[in-house]
Amino acid sequence: MARINDNFLKLKAGYLFPEIGRRVGAFTQANPDKAASLIKCGIGDVTEALPEAVREAMHKAVDELGNRDTFRGYGPEQGYDFLREAIADNCYVNLNISADDIFISDGSKCDSGNILDIFGQDNKIAITDPVYPVYVDTNVMIGNTGDADENGRYEGLVYLPCTAENNFVPAIPDEKVDIIYLCYPNNPSGASATREQLAAWVNYAKANDAIILYDAAYEAFIQDPDVPRSIYEIEGAHDCALEFRSFSKNGGFTGVRCGYITIPDSVTGASASGERISIKQLWSRRTSTKFNGASYPVQRGAEAIFSEAGKKQVAELVAHYMGNAKLLREACSEIGLNVFGGENAPYVWVACPEGLTSWDMFDKMLEEANVVITPGSGFGAAGEGYFRISAFNSRENVIEVCTRLKNHL
Ligand SMILES: *Cc1c(COP(=O)(O)O)cnc(C)c1O
Repeated sequence: MARINDNFLKLKAGYLFPEIGRRVGAFTQANPDKAASLIKCGIGDVTEALPEAVREAMHKAVDELGNRDTFRGYGPEQGYDFLREAIADNCYVNLNISADDIFISDGSKCDSGNILDIFGQDNKIAITDPVYPVYVDTNVMIGNTGDADENGRYEGLVYLPCTAENNFVPAIPDEKVDIIYLCYPNNPSGASATREQLAAWVNYAKANDAIILYDAAYEAFIQDPDVPRSIYEIEGAHDCALEFRSFSKNGGFTGVRCGYITIPDSVTGASASGERISIKQLWSRRTSTKFNGASYPVQRGAEAIFSEAGKKQVAELVAHYMGNAKLLREACSEIGLNVFGGENAPYVWVACPEGLTSWDMFDKMLEEANVVITPGSGFGAAGEGYFRISAFNSRENVIEVCTRLKNHL
């Protein structure tokens, strides 16, 4: 008898996006005339074309592979030096991070799930609420939780509520936890964390011998020069934090696939016997065993993001999406809604009008404005009463969404 991993049975059946799909399907079936004008601002996927510098570099890399003299087979599992060095030189200027601390992957979703391989079973794990669902579900799968309650909260996890009162950056818990997931700029709330807020978390982690898993997937969208772009801008973070980054959102790599984890030498965890073990060495060992590296053309494409032309093209993409975010913020404010996020992140997080739940608002927007948004409650119990509008769209669609918001709400 082949036994399955019973932890999978604890998972709530991927409720959010299937339920959005079901409601949109029902609406278009009942209103076929409106199907064509429906605008989707739901899923966090980029919409604009891959930068030219990236495409050129990828074409060139494919041609290299097509010539026996320049052909490459397996590359280094941890990533090619050309990309690791480009990242260290461009993303971590004066932050004491070397190319060797950077591990290239096929994206942050995989990294943030896979990292659990190297941690033990008895850790107390803290996640924010609302949250990127990957952190929760990967902990469920690996057996770090009990069952979910009626609010979808799993037994054994420590939930850190993020609300308007704390500017969507959680308060330091009064209990001791071992692993903390933080994501800033945040998906879904669009909030960013200040230096002081991150310093408080780093101090907590150091005092409690905890590790912070810091997801900086939206770093490129930060506009405010005072907002930290990396956790390593905070003193002490080199001893207690891993940073996850991705080319998905800045470089439009959601379909190309490339990301990385940064792990300084000084981050350690304890073995059963209390010995201190380097997290970087464990991750390197895990990578060599379970991964054969990201694709060569993709790593060349990622490297091109740091070229002169690549930087300019990425800056244009970011400016496009952040211009969308500004318009969406303004339109929501104008109709009297309470708006958060969208200033250092491509997500606008909006409080529902008095008396409407997140799903009420979803239905109202779908039926009256023919716009698909994401209900905040889908990201966690504390997201109830909010909805997320993604700025990943064409300018034309965003302008139309703003007009419809003003006309219908
Ligand atoms: C989009 C996103 C990522 C990036 O995921 P990839 O697998 O690299 O595409 C990581 N974290 C969050 C919170 C995201 O929204």
